[in-house]
Amino acid sequence: MKNTDLYARVQSFLLGVEKPARYVGGEYGAIEKDRKALNIAVAFPDLYEIGMSNQALKILYNNLNSIEDVRCERVFAPAPDFEAEIRARGIPLYSLESFTPLSEFDIIACTLGYELGITGLLTILDAAGIPISAAERGEGHPIVLLGGPAASNPAPFAEFVDGVWIGEAEDAFWSLVGEIAVLKRNGEGRAAVLSALRAHSAMWHPGKSARRSIHRNFSLAGSPANIYPVPSMKAVQDHGTVEIMRGCPNGCRFCHAGYWYRPMREKSVRAIFSEVDSFVMAGGYREISLSSLSSGDFSDIGELINALNDRYREERISFQLPSLKVSTFALPLLEALSETRKSGLTFAIETPLDMWQLSINKQVCFDNVVEILREAKLRGWKLAKFYFMIGLPVPPSDQAEQEEEAIVDFLLRIRSSVDLSLNVNIGTFVPKPHTPYQWSKQLSLEESDRKLSFIRGKLKGTGIKVSTHDPFTSYLEGIISRGSADVSALIRSAFSRGCRLDAWEDHIRSDIWKEEIEKRPEVLPSFDNNLEVALPWDSVDSGVSRKIFADEYLRSQRSMLTSACEDDCDHLCGICSKNVRLTKNDTTQRISIPAAAENGKKKSSKGIPSAYQGSDAETLRLVFTFSKLDTATYLPHLGLLEVFNKSLIRARIAIKYTEGFNPLPKIDFASPISLGLRAENEVATIDLTEKIAGDSFIEAINRSLPNGIRVNRARTHHIPVGVKKVSAASALWGFSYCVSGNEEGELFVPAAEEKAFRLSRSGQGDLSSLIRKQVWARGADGERTDYFSLYANLYSSIES
Ligand code: SF4
Repeated sequence: MKNTDLYARVQSFLLGVEKPARYVGGEYGAIEKDRKALNIAVAFPDLYEIGMSNQALKILYNNLNSIEDVRCERVFAPAPDFEAEIRARGIPLYSLESFTPLSEFDIIACTLGYELGITGLLTILDAAGIPISAAERGEGHPIVLLGGPAASNPAPFAEFVDGVWIGEAEDAFWSLVGEIAVLKRNGEGRAAVLSALRAHSAMWHPGKSARRSIHRNFSLAGSPANIYPVPSMKAVQDHGTVEIMRGCPNGCRFCHAGYWYRPMREKSVRAIFSEVDSFVMAGGYREISLSSLSSGDFSDIGELINALNDRYREERISFQLPSLKVSTFALPLLEALSETRKSGLTFAIETPLDMWQLSINKQVCFDNVVEILREAKLRGWKLAKFYFMIGLPVPPSDQAEQEEEAIVDFLLRIRSSVDLSLNVNIGTFVPKPHTPYQWSKQLSLEESDRKLSFIRGKLKGTGIKVSTHDPFTSYLEGIISRGSADVSALIRSAFSRGCRLDAWEDHIRSDIWKEEIEKRPEVLPSFDNNLEVALPWDSVDSGVSRKIFADEYLRSQRSMLTSACEDDCDHLCGICSKNVRLTKNDTTQRISIPAAAENGKKKSSKGIPSAYQGSDAETLRLVFTFSKLDTATYLPHLGLLEVFNKSLIRARIAIKYTEGFNPLPKIDFASPISLGLRAENEVATIDLTEKIAGDSFIEAINRSLPNGIRVNRARTHHIPVGVKKVSAASALWGFSYCVSGNEEGELFVPAAEEKAFRLSRSGQGDLSSLIRKQVWARGADGERTDYFSLYANLYSSIES
């Protein structure tokens, strides 16, 4: 149940902040439960559009809500403008589902995907009036838990949280939460709950060790897809994400995720199909990312993509693989991926010389890259992207070449070998805990600046587009990721001086951070390649033995390769056992396409006489009106368009698409709706490939739309071949409005005068007094008419 009082207070200023849709919830699939024995807020320490692209958040949200007696809602870090508004008005930060102040939750569980997100968590707590220091919290305050890969060294965060979950949440964390819910139902208080949480072997807190929890059943069919909520406004990654493989077999020595998520586990093909089905049918996604750390290593990946294309060709669903190693790169695979949309050509080279690649345990053959690029050019690709890192702890080159020179040389050789546009992105390596480079020295800020300037200077005017990752962001990430408890004081001071959203180059206050670091030289990691030194994360057992990290570090210094993980592994790192082991799919049989889910079948057009079977040549145009009220008022027009695109797929409406590399649904709005304007009868049309009666359309689409948007009236027309197709936008006459608290009744405003009318009635940006009652079409005589009459005069309806 929504706290309407808090919602009203927030609405009073919402149109004055950037992207108000971040703060209102109401998305399709958002779960609204009554208060339960255990109430958890999952916190994402960054902006809504980043958090809603994060799969960990959705895994937590959906799985925690599936536990009896548990209610789980979401909260995101506010942007500075919104934070200032709520602080000025004394409004506590709240959860999106019910507008419940965070202080009323039992647990706040934050997933930390990157170290610099920590100030986002502090912002969330502080803006909710919850003490940021765990020592200042007690009975009546929520318990604050942290998890996620960036918390694999929990020491710097210990001051702020009551416990850190080490490893994967699936299975073990759900069971623990279920037990806590029982304790709460039995009336236990905060102290008993905290003690039960801390007793778990995967829960770390100062003075206690913890062992990483591993999801053992990852590969099995039946894992529910974590689709919901489907964001209404545009998220940074606006596609469905199916995790096809967890872990990576390759053992790249710089890669934290490669070690942290061991062992490699492939998801079964049946489970992948089932999740893709859910993302398309239940989520409405047309782009699906098949995610993993190295998707090219998935057994028979080409066959999997071909099978998915076969299944989803008609629906124009496209698939992406976010990460392909050069050694697994195959153009037929890329072409299969590009069947619906042209995918990018990205090469993560990391480091340019062969001996350095061997040192980081990666092989990228220059000739191989050139061969792929030449072939790609012949097949129509125009752009290739490269990624490099500086500061990797590799041995000196035998030609005494510096890494920045070698990177420039590598790229210029590529440039002279293939005539393609080249973009290169260069970052500074950050040594991470639980990797063979955990003892290594990080490049100084000055060196990092110098090397990046050198590369930018040398490549200027060569046609290679260079972008570099901010060296200070990497420097700070290095301090936090390998920091001790001393780093807490640094984080607290920077936060109290206003540091927010530090993972964003345009938000990070490097001046403040630098001043605070200067005051505390003890925060700088200084392990100096001493493999015996005590490390701040020694109390966290990742499962990989310290000896393996040391051996791998020494092999790196000798540029020796270690082979990839295999079933018959001969370099046991400590992870695989009879309980947990590397899992690969059976490649001896061809991938068969599992039967489509029942809800995947397109709905037939109920109520349409069989005589009305559409001919391919005619256009079937459905005109409809809809309202946009409540939380949907805060959606921008592009968000609304995306809402309809996904809702039409969820409703199984057979819609026509445009041609070309990026096919789009043929939907046409009579007029965009200003953000913040309430509207009761907007007009849009869609072109169909199958007939559907208006009533059937309304029934299907209204089940698929998010809060605040409803279709009120619909009718489908034939437009025969050769007859002019009138679009809703081209036939626009104007609008009628009503003004709250005004006796003038309905006011008719032609389209050309609408903006001036809005400004005269409402003032810049404040639309709260206006409701757009109806959008009107221009009739044959130029006079105002409603769209249904216009289309009825022009074309025959399939129902008439
Ligand atoms: S035991 Fe061998 S196969 Fe298993 S994760 Fe470690 S290195 Fe890989």
